Amino acid sequence: MKKGKKLYEGKAKIIYATNDKNLVIQYFKDDATAFNNQKKTTIEGKGVLNNRISEHILSNLSQIGIKNHLVKRLNMREQIIKLVEIIPIEFIVRNVATGSITKRLGIEDGTVLKEPLIEYCLKDDKLGDPLISEEHILAFDWASKTEIDEVKKMILRINDFMIGMFRGVGIKLIDFKLEFGRIKIDGKNEVILADEISPDTCRLWDSITEKKLDKDRFRKDLGDLIPAYTEVAKRLGILHEQSNVSAVNVTKLSSVKRKKK
Ligand code: 5GP
Repeated sequence: MKKGKKLYEGKAKIIYATNDKNLVIQYFKDDATAFNNQKKTTIEGKGVLNNRISEHILSNLSQIGIKNHLVKRLNMREQIIKLVEIIPIEFIVRNVATGSITKRLGIEDGTVLKEPLIEYCLKDDKLGDPLISEEHILAFDWASKTEIDEVKKMILRINDFMIGMFRGVGIKLIDFKLEFGRIKIDGKNEVILADEISPDTCRLWDSITEKKLDKDRFRKDLGDLIPAYTEVAKRLGILHEQSNVSAVNVTKLSSVKRKKK
């Protein structure tokens, strides 16, 4: 597989072409941004951890029949993924109210929702990813009714699976963001899960202490982001228990594991 030119650079990832027109390489950067790019920094080792955690979750989702773009992890920062046409919507799934919904609607932080709540945001940095309704999506043809219905079914299964997976390792899945893309499989148009699922895109709280193990450590200046992401990776069985939490060691560990394969 030959790496070609850069096709797209986002806030946390870069997409490169390959010699196969249906496949691209997704590179995980160490850059962290928040509040629509107003807060930015680089956190050494974040990309390595997100690459591993996202690979783990998407592979597990594949096994329960959730089609997604992951083909395989290439190395510590890169994955081969299927090229899809991204639907320009961020699908937000909430199990517990925190973050933007508490400010927007005056809901008490930590309120457990009776049912998972799905919200839609238009993927547009210039507009600050505004909240939209299903009617907006249909009115402006951002996705079809069939696509939305299909995505909603997938989201509920993904949420169920992830709640259970994290509960098993003492973590509460508070909320997360998903993206989906269009692809032709065997001549048929399909919608599959795309992007990444990692502590950058989820809120994850320790089940007992409610310690934040996600990107809120950066957003809220709580510090120790790498130890928190490392903790998630260790609990999911991706990194060994005894591994040290420093970014440098995460980087070393990943390359050692890769060489062993
Ligand atoms: P909120 O709307 O409360 O800010 O975010 C809800 C959930 O979606 C959180 O888990 C948050 O990490 C995720 N999320 C929402 N928008 C984005 C985004 O643009 N980038 C990333 N990485 N995550 C997002």
